[in-house]
Amino acid sequence: MTAFWTEPDYDDHEMVHVVRDRASGLTAIIAVHSTHLGPGAGGTRFWHYPEPKDGLRDALRLSRGMSYKNAMAGLPLGGGKAVILADAERTKTPEMLAAFGDAVDGLGGRYVTAEDVGISEADMVAVSKRTAHVSGLPVDGNGSAGGDPGPFTAYGIYLGIKAAVRHKLGADSVKDVHVALQGTGSVGGGVARLLAKDGARLTLADIHADGVRALGDELGANVVSPEAIMTTSCDVFSPNALGAILDDASIAALDTRIVAGGANNQLARAHHGKALFERGILYAPDYVINAGGIISVAAEYLARREGKPASVEDVRERIEKIPARLEEVWQASDRDGTAPDIVADAMAQALIGRG
Ligand code: NAD
Repeated sequence: MTAFWTEPDYDDHEMVHVVRDRASGLTAIIAVHSTHLGPGAGGTRFWHYPEPKDGLRDALRLSRGMSYKNAMAGLPLGGGKAVILADAERTKTPEMLAAFGDAVDGLGGRYVTAEDVGISEADMVAVSKRTAHVSGLPVDGNGSAGGDPGPFTAYGIYLGIKAAVRHKLGADSVKDVHVALQGTGSVGGGVARLLAKDGARLTLADIHADGVRALGDELGANVVSPEAIMTTSCDVFSPNALGAILDDASIAALDTRIVAGGANNQLARAHHGKALFERGILYAPDYVINAGGIISVAAEYLARREGKPASVEDVRERIEKIPARLEEVWQASDRDGTAPDIVADAMAQALIGRG
């Protein structure tokens, strides 16, 4: 058997911790890719993987992704991720969450957890009874940052779209710029509202037909079917639903100058960033443009450790640096003839001391 740490996904993780708790039935993997900039921070996913090795691969890829995202957001945090391997019925018990909290605590702060797919705010509250290394907890709403990261992510995407329009189209405003949005949930809906205020022309699509129609009426936006959105002729295509949507066929069919949206892992495979570049479509690397949520979550965690509320102004200030970071990526891309996703990865690697 080849050692699993020689697999490409392992990518020099500092630590991969396997947790088995017989009493509660918990099986979890906690992967810490890098603590170069601070504790490895990233959420916990609760998922049933028919093959446990897929859970390990998810933890490794997501944890490296968090290293890059946190570094490019200028946060004093490294990257980590946990995966709880659920059974086919997705049984989740208080005992399991307690055992998971103990495991996180046992790492002494090298890993800081939060919500991800399958884990709710209430679950994180349960975990927080056993360890202080938790974020994404409810906030009191008195002007403190934290809580639902969606609106913060949306604000960063909106600023990133404006930066892309400036860079690619030479326009200082998004007035009359046509943006096609795929997904109008927490993030996409927020982006649509911010763009509408600035007079952008919007086309929306979502598989929740009633919700998207209501948003379309509210904003005076055109609504098309989910099948039509990726071939809509527009200035900006903004993916805010699923990952892995940019593949050979969809990239060939895009009718846009810019791709800039919040969905995680938009490129189906590594070479698809180059495919966009070769088509002359400006791409905003997903983990750079969608960092608003983690910036808020991180502020909540770091402030709580100092015993004070996180300030929304500080969070907004940090999010407002996303356009400059994107511009840095695009300028290097233009200068070197390298696709923006490759440039961003190289910058992130340098920031975590692996340049
Ligand atoms: P959400 O569930 O609130 O919204 C997603 C929307 O996409 C839903 O309305 C859903 O109906 C729609 N959708 C699903 N499949 C679709 C399809 N095929 N075509 C059109 N619409 C479709 O989720 P969200 O929090 O808005 O997150 C959206 C994306 O952004 C996800 O990829 C998420 O991983 C990523 N992201 C979110 C945050 C955050 O702070 N919420 C942060 C970073 C990245």
